[in-house]
Amino acid sequence: IQKEEEKSDVRVFSVDMRKSQLREQQLKEGLALALQNHEFHLVYQSVIDNQTNEVSFCEVLLRWELNGELVPPHEFIPIAEQYGLIHEIGEWVLMTACAESKNWCFGDKVDISVNVSVPQLLRNDFIGIVREALFSSGFPATRLHLEITESVFANNTEVMFARIKELRSLGIKVSVDDFGTGFSSLSQLQKMSADIVKIDRSFIASMNEGGQAIIQATQYMAKQLGYSVVAEGVETKQQADELSDIGIGCSQGYYFSYPMTIDKLAQWHQDYKQGKRNDLT
Ligand code: C2E
Ligand code: MG
Ligand code: MG
Ligand code: MG
Repeated sequence: IQKEEEKSDVRVFSVDMRKSQLREQQLKEGLALALQNHEFHLVYQSVIDNQTNEVSFCEVLLRWELNGELVPPHEFIPIAEQYGLIHEIGEWVLMTACAESKNWCFGDKVDISVNVSVPQLLRNDFIGIVREALFSSGFPATRLHLEITESVFANNTEVMFARIKELRSLGIKVSVDDFGTGFSSLSQLQKMSADIVKIDRSFIASMNEGGQAIIQATQYMAKQLGYSVVAEGVETKQQADELSDIGIGCSQGYYFSYPMTIDKLAQWHQDYKQGKRNDLT
């Protein structure tokens, strides 16, 4: 009987492999057509200033609807990167985010924050693309943040640091995303000199099982180095209160707001100001 089971395990395994290959193929082909088929849209998640309780900035998140199904970014972004499609897609995200949000009706104080993949940042034309997005939309550089995932700093650090410097000289803020999960150390924060550290949500989720120590250490170092700190994945009032007590500058998560399309955002912001929070998403 054992032999039989082993055999069927092998068969199941190869069926799974085949399935994931087919899936990758489907997504790769779909992604190549997604822009021209208008299958992308953007959603915005508000990030709250813990001191004032006001919206500090909104993170822009890409959504892809393929044949009525929302494919999650963690599934398609790596494929877009692997097959070189991220450049075109990333350019669309930047252009669209700047154009969509320049007419925001809730004042001048809210920044927008766009995720950028490492291969985008490393390309020589990246700064030009960012400038073009700002120029053609009229969106001010000083209200744009770019989020880069920490693991990237493991490679090509010199090019990365030079790019970051150039972006900051334009007035753009640079954020280190998912901090604590990748290869970068606190000392690299000093070398790269960016503006914002986003603590990965796994540490917020495990706050009562050791995560709090990492959050406090990051907060302390970040403050010394002149970084602002954002906590990701804040889902409960208790987490929000504890983070605020630690002195974390901003909190982002479902407790405050789900990501939503830009046309819902203004209304959400109105309702938020009246104290309704996320009951309305
Ligand atoms: P990220 O940049 O760390 O974005 C935050 C992710 O956490 C988003 O997932 C958001 O929906 C989710 N999130 C927010 N609050 C909570 C919460 O309270 N609990 C939990 N469990 N999750 C929360 P999403 O939209 O699925 O995006 C996943 C990742 O895909 C992003 O992680 C980012 O790395 C990447 N991504 C998304 N849009 C883009 C894009 O336009 N360009 C690039 N290069 N990457 C993108
Ligand atoms: Mg991000
Ligand atoms: Mg990320
Ligand atoms: Mg993140």
